[in-house]
Amino acid sequence: MVFSKPHGTQTESEDRYARARLKMVEEIRETAREASDYVSTPLSEKVLAVMSRVPRHRFVPEGELYGAYYNNPLPIGHGQTISQPYIVALMTDLLALDKQQTVLEVGTGSGYQAAVLSELAGKVYSMEIVAPLATAAAKVLDELGYANVEVKAGDGSLGWPEHAPYDGIIVTAAAEQIPQPLLDQLKPGGRLVIPVGGRFDVQYLLLITRDSDGVFHRKTIEPVRFVPLTGEG
Ligand code: SAM
Repeated sequence: MVFSKPHGTQTESEDRYARARLKMVEEIRETAREASDYVSTPLSEKVLAVMSRVPRHRFVPEGELYGAYYNNPLPIGHGQTISQPYIVALMTDLLALDKQQTVLEVGTGSGYQAAVLSELAGKVYSMEIVAPLATAAAKVLDELGYANVEVKAGDGSLGWPEHAPYDGIIVTAAAEQIPQPLLDQLKPGGRLVIPVGGRFDVQYLLLITRDSDGVFHRKTIEPVRFVPLTGEG
């Protein structure tokens, strides 16, 4: 389904977007089936239901509207991207959040992933190192009523210590290695989902869990391609 600038009545546009979201969710399921060598369980229906509701078209630049519901990443300016819907679904699924939990996102970008997290967690803190992206994302999230999301411009590789520890941490840019501050800010029982690898190397999505004794366990999920995590952490 291809979108140009909205035409027809607002209700007609909203219906078209809703249908496009359902198609996007079907494509996510299909990609998950193809990736089943890596991803052993089907993606959570709870996550897919949220993604069939969140208006992704509100998070993409006007010039990219046509592809808002393609199962592809898209440019959002400043050399950055909104991640592929399948990857958003997979990373969200790996966090296994519930409404009592607090999550930190590093790499707000467009704000879309934060909106998805907002419906599954109690509180979402999201950091973005490119200040204009942080400002734009905060505005859209506010307009759409995602009241449990707080966005801050800054270096998320250092975490957001004021609100730590977190039940979940999601990093949406690839780190050369896992930033120690993020490990330090993860609760026992918590989950960290992070792509790791250099810009020109194969990157792998990792799930790090911290057990009740504070010991970290690492699981490699699948090869991925992300923009680099910058900053000092
Ligand atoms: N989650 C985003 C979304 O839903 O649109 C996609 C994020 S994009 C793939 C990665 C983002 O990470 C970029 O916006 C980039 O500026 C940001 N980033 C890179 N290094 C960062 C850091 N140290 N702290 C915070 N954000 C960072």
